[in-house]
Amino acid sequence: FLMTHDIMMINCILLFSQWEEISGLDENYTPIRTYQVCQVMEPNQNNWLRTNWIEKGDAQRIFVELKFTLRDCNSLPGVVGSCKETFNLYYQETDVEVGRNIRESQYVKIDTIAADESFTQGDLGERKMKLNTEVRIIGPLSRRGFYLAFQDVGACIALVSVKVYYKKCWSIIENLATFPDTVTGSEFSSLVEVEGTCVNDAEEEADNSPKMHCSAEGEWLVPIGKCICKAGFHQKGDACEPCGRGFYKSSSQDLQCSRCPAHSYNDREGSWRCDCEDGYYRALSDPPSVACTRPPSAPQNLLYNINHTTVSLEWTPPADTGGRNDVMYRIICRRCTWEPEECFPCGSNVGYLPQQSGLTDTYVTITDLLAHANYTFEVEAVNGVSDLILAWGPSHAAAALSTAPITRGCPPTEVIKERVQQHSIQLSWQEPEQPNGVITEYEIKYYEKDQKNRIYSTVKSKSTSATVNNLKPSTAYIFQIRAFTAAGYGTFGPRVEVTTKEESTGSGEQIISFCSLCRHCGYSKADQEGDEELYFQFKFPGTKTYIDPETYEDPNRAVHQFAKELDASCIKIERVIGAGEFGEVCSGRLKLPGKRDVSVAIKTLKVGYTEKQRRDFLCEASIMGQFDHPNVVHLEGVVTRGKPVMIVIEYMENGSLDAFLRKHDGQFTVIQLVGMLRGIAAGMRYLSDMGYVHRDLAARNILVNSNLVCKVSDFGLSRVIDDDPEAVYTTTGGKIPVRWTAMEAIQYRKFTSASDVWSYGILMWEVMSYGERPYWDMSNQDVIKAIEEGYRLPAPMDCPPGLHQLMLDCWQKDRADRPKFDQIVGILDKMIRNPNTLKTPMGTCTRPISPLLDQNTPDFNSFRLVSEWLEAIKMERYVDSFTAAGYSSLESVARMTIEDVMSLGISLVGHQKKIMSSIQTMRAQMLHLHGTGVQV
Ligand code: AMP
Repeated sequence: FLMTHDIMMINCILLFSQWEEISGLDENYTPIRTYQVCQVMEPNQNNWLRTNWIEKGDAQRIFVELKFTLRDCNSLPGVVGSCKETFNLYYQETDVEVGRNIRESQYVKIDTIAADESFTQGDLGERKMKLNTEVRIIGPLSRRGFYLAFQDVGACIALVSVKVYYKKCWSIIENLATFPDTVTGSEFSSLVEVEGTCVNDAEEEADNSPKMHCSAEGEWLVPIGKCICKAGFHQKGDACEPCGRGFYKSSSQDLQCSRCPAHSYNDREGSWRCDCEDGYYRALSDPPSVACTRPPSAPQNLLYNINHTTVSLEWTPPADTGGRNDVMYRIICRRCTWEPEECFPCGSNVGYLPQQSGLTDTYVTITDLLAHANYTFEVEAVNGVSDLILAWGPSHAAAALSTAPITRGCPPTEVIKERVQQHSIQLSWQEPEQPNGVITEYEIKYYEKDQKNRIYSTVKSKSTSATVNNLKPSTAYIFQIRAFTAAGYGTFGPRVEVTTKEESTGSGEQIISFCSLCRHCGYSKADQEGDEELYFQFKFPGTKTYIDPETYEDPNRAVHQFAKELDASCIKIERVIGAGEFGEVCSGRLKLPGKRDVSVAIKTLKVGYTEKQRRDFLCEASIMGQFDHPNVVHLEGVVTRGKPVMIVIEYMENGSLDAFLRKHDGQFTVIQLVGMLRGIAAGMRYLSDMGYVHRDLAARNILVNSNLVCKVSDFGLSRVIDDDPEAVYTTTGGKIPVRWTAMEAIQYRKFTSASDVWSYGILMWEVMSYGERPYWDMSNQDVIKAIEEGYRLPAPMDCPPGLHQLMLDCWQKDRADRPKFDQIVGILDKMIRNPNTLKTPMGTCTRPISPLLDQNTPDFNSFRLVSEWLEAIKMERYVDSFTAAGYSSLESVARMTIEDVMSLGISLVGHQKKIMSSIQTMRAQMLHLHGTGVQV
C-alpha cells in the first residue's frame, strides 16, 4: 500500500479464506499481486479482508484510494441472483493493534464501492481487466491508528491496490518567512492557520506577523503579514544578506543598503550605521543617514558695550558651522577676583536677554551685574554635536572674552612716596578718577618684596596718605592701595615698590616720586589684557629738575623736547569755555590712535600772533610738559605744525578753584576743603622739588576736576604773570599779584618756593573762605602797607585754628621761617587723619587782631546801612530778612548771635558762618575803635 503524500506500508490480512492472494498482470502487463474473491455462485457471502494496523501520525483526514476490477454478474454464466457487483469498505479506529477477530459491529462502514466499469464475459484468453479507481475519505480520526476492511458479499473482485494517504502543505518560504510542513485539517473545508518563522536576519514586520493557511487539499492559501530583513541586511531572494562594506541599512523598514554618508565609514559587513570619521560626530537625534558633523568654530568679532552694570555682547556667526544648520550660542559668565585672579560662575542673579543659552541671534544683554566687579564672558557657538563632545571631554569651540573690569571702582592712582625712613614709609596717592561712590577709607596692603610666602599686612587710612611704620631698614616693600566705598572695596592699584632707608643713612629725607599710572580707568583694551600691564612704574632715580625753556636758544626745540606734537585730526573742538591771554580756551576731545578718547581743554593761539606771542604761548606747554603729578595739570600735547597753534591739556570739569568755591559757597565739609588744600600742597611740593617756582599761586590758577581733585595750573615765565589781572606793576618792575605775593618778592623780586609758600597761605585763606577776595577791597597799596606793618588776614569763618595757624606760618616775614611744602603736606595729612583737630566751635575762631587792622580792614563804620554791609560780604540777598526783623543799624547787627542769624531764615550753614564771621570782625573793630563794649 502506498500513500501518495506520506507512505505507509500496509499488509493485508486474509481473515477468511474466500479472499485469495493471487499474482497477475496489470494493464501494462506488469506483474502485480492482487487479492481476489469470486464467490458468486454461493448465496450469503460475507468475506472480509482487513489491512494491518495503520498508525495515522498527524493525519486526521485519510484518503483511501482503491484500485480494483469487478466482474459483471451478467457476464458470468450460470450465475444466479446471489451475484453482487459491489463490495463494502470499512474502518476501525484503535489506539493499539487488536486481534485478528473481526466483529462487524466494531467497524464503521465507509461506503459501498461499485465499479465504474466492470468487465464482461469473453473467453478467458481475451479477458481484459478493467481497473476501477475509487477514492474515499475517512475522518476526522481521533485514535492513534486504524484498520481498513473490505467486505465482499458475493461479488467477483480483484483488489489491485489500496493506497492510504493523507495530505499536507509542504514547507515553503513565503515573504521571508518559513512555513513548516503542515498536515491539513480534519475537515474538507478547514484551513489550518500556520505562523511563519522569519528567515535568518529577518524580523517580523511590526503588527504584521507572517501567517499562511494550509487548505484541506494541501495547498498554502491566504498569506498574511511578512518578515523583513533586519537593519544591516537586505533581501536577496528568500534570504537576507548583510550590507557590504561602506554601506549601511539603518532600519528593517529600509529596502536597500545605502552608501555611508559624508564623513562616515564602516569596514565591516552587516552594519546598521556608519561610524564618524575622527573629529566628526553625530548628534543623538541625527539619523544615521545624515552626514557626520562637527562643532562650529568660535563666534567672530565679539564686541561688547558696558553701561553701568549692564553689558551687551554682539558677535558674528562662526566661520565654520561644522556642517550643521542648528548653530546656537550660549553665554558663560564668570565673575573674577583680582588678586589672586579666580573666577566663579556668575550665578542666577545675573539676567540675560533674551536668554543665556539657545540663542539664535548674535547678541545678548547681560543685566544685574555687580558694580565694582570684574567679569569674563565667553560666547560659545554650539551646534547639535557640541554637547556630545563636551560630555566626552574634548574641548569645544568657544570665543572667550575678558571684558574690561566693569563698574568697579578704580584704584587710587599715582602713588607717591612721600617720605622714606628706616622704619617707616609715608605714601600719598590720588583719589581714583572713578571712585564709584564716596570713598570712606583706603586700604594699603604691603609685603616684603623678597619674602617668599608674601605675608600681607594692611593699614587703613581715611585720607589719601598713610604712613606705614615698623618696617625693616634697607628692605624693599611692595605697596598696593584700594579704596572703600559704600559699594565695597574697589580694585587694588598698581604695585609700588619702596625700599626703606639704610640704618646708617643720615636724617636727610629722600623724596622720590613714583608715578604708576592707572590714569584711565574704565574699559580700555589695555585693561582687558590684564592689569599687570598697567603695573609698570616710573621710577625716578632722584628728583627730576625743571628746565627753564628760556635756556633753549630755539624755543621750538624746547616745546618738542617736553611736549608731544599732536595731529590736529585727533582733536575735536566742541565749545569755548574761557578766554586766555593768547586766545580762546575751548573744551573738546582728544582721540589718540589705540587709546580711548579723553576730554581735553584746548588753548588756542589767536590768529595774527607775533613770533614772540607764539613763543610765550608755547612756553607754558614747555613747562607743563615737564611735569607729571596728579596735582599738576597734565599736558596732553601741542599742535605747532598747523593752525591754530594749540596747547592740549587734560580737561578740568569744574574750572578754576576760586569761581568753583564761590559757586558752592558753604557746601563742603572742612575735611573736603582741607583735602583740596592737601592736593594743591602736594602739587606744589612736586613743583618745588623740581626747582620750579610758580610765582602766581592763587585759587584762580588752580583747576578742579569732576572728582574735586585740585591741580596747579597756569605755568609761565615771570612775564606770564602779565596776563594775571591781579598782577600790578611794582616799583621793582614787572607785574605782581600783590595780595598773593610775599614781601620779599614784592620788594626785590625774590621769587622762591618760600614765596610760593606765602601765596599758598593766601590760597588757603581763599579756600577756607569759599573764594573771598584776600584783604577784601583794600587797595594793593594798603595791603602792602598792612603786611609790612605786621597785619595778617584773620581766620575765615569756621576756620579750624590749626589751619589759620598754618596760614600765619606761611606768612612769616622771614622766608626761612615758613614751612616747606613738604611739611605743609604732612601737617594737612595729620589734620585729615585726626578730624578732631579740625573741629571749630561755631564762632570761636581765633584771630589775631593786629593794631593795623583798625586802619586797614574794611571799616564797618564806613557802612551806613545794613544793606551796604551785606553787599560787601556778598550776602545782599538777605537784606529784606534783616530789614523785616528790624535790624536797621550795624550796631544792632553787631549784637546778633548765631541763633538770631538763623531766626532770619538763613538756613545755608555756609552763609550763616559767613555772616557770623563778618559780625565778629565788625564787633572786634567796633570794640577797638570806640572802646565801646558790645554786649553779646
Ligand atoms: P587760562 O588763561 O589758562 O587761565 O585759561 C582761561 C580759563 O579757561 C580758565 O580760567 C578756566 O576757566 C579755563 N580753563 C583753562 N584750562 C582749563 C582746563 N584744563 N580745563 C578746564 N578749563 C580750563
